[in-house]
Amino acid sequence: MQLTQLHEQTWVIQGGANIGVIAQEGRCLIIDSGMDKDAGRDILNQVKKLGLTPTSLLITHAHADHFGGAHYLVRQTGLKVYATRVEAAVMSGPILEPLYLFSGAQPPRELQHKFLLAKPCLVDSVLEGNEQAIDHIPLQVISLPGHSIEQVGVAFGDTLFVGDAFLTPEILDKHRIPFYTDVQAGLTTLTTLKTRMASFKHIVAGHGEIYTSTERANGAIDYTVERLERILEHIRVALADGEARTVAELLRTVANAQGAKIEALSQYVLYNTTVQSAVSTLYAWGEIHPFFQDNFLAWQRTR
Ligand SMILES: [Zn+2]
Repeated sequence: MQLTQLHEQTWVIQGGANIGVIAQEGRCLIIDSGMDKDAGRDILNQVKKLGLTPTSLLITHAHADHFGGAHYLVRQTGLKVYATRVEAAVMSGPILEPLYLFSGAQPPRELQHKFLLAKPCLVDSVLEGNEQAIDHIPLQVISLPGHSIEQVGVAFGDTLFVGDAFLTPEILDKHRIPFYTDVQAGLTTLTTLKTRMASFKHIVAGHGEIYTSTERANGAIDYTVERLERILEHIRVALADGEARTVAELLRTVANAQGAKIEALSQYVLYNTTVQSAVSTLYAWGEIHPFFQDNFLAWQRTR
């Protein structure tokens, strides 16, 4: 893991996920914890090298690659953990992540690997998503729903940590279909982020490069927005002939159009959530409606 100093009191540890460190009078707040015990151990070593005592941990959202190391960090240091209510629920019962991905049914073993199922971690303090300080460190917690239902980011000095609110173009091109539980909220979040971006010097997404220019970060946001809008458009086009189609059919259409090749159950359920959420968004906007035919749930354009 690579340590980069952004400001007098701010660092990023770059590994599988980008971990934030904010120092205050010899102690520090850690933002996200990586995927597992190994990530937790690396974070702890880096923080110790800086001569800091970790006293608090904020989890931006409860995906295993962001909170999996929390169990270890808590056990080693006793630091206090902060997260929003729904994310905290998943952290305390991590089976919820593969469970919701498999429609609330017992998830098959392929969905119970460490990328989707982390060790549990209890949250000490539930965040509302608008806090002005954590552990007496003056900062701003910012609500960033979309990628995850109650994701938050952190603004501190000239640095903005945004979790997985947007993906870098390289990562987006690799994943093809970004994971979103709420496309509508995600689009609103990205628009809001763009208006706030100018006041920060460093923008740290959950994965990939650290942005030191507003233009580049805005470019990455635009790229994510474009991808989400393209997914909505693929669905509109697929339903343009007035026929009703199932989510499974729409998922195939979107995946083909995005050049994705689905070969694993985990990949399928992640894509499926985004397409379900795009369908939900178009329904909320009055563009499509559910339609039952031969015991199929299908979706049809509303004229
Ligand atoms: Zn995530």
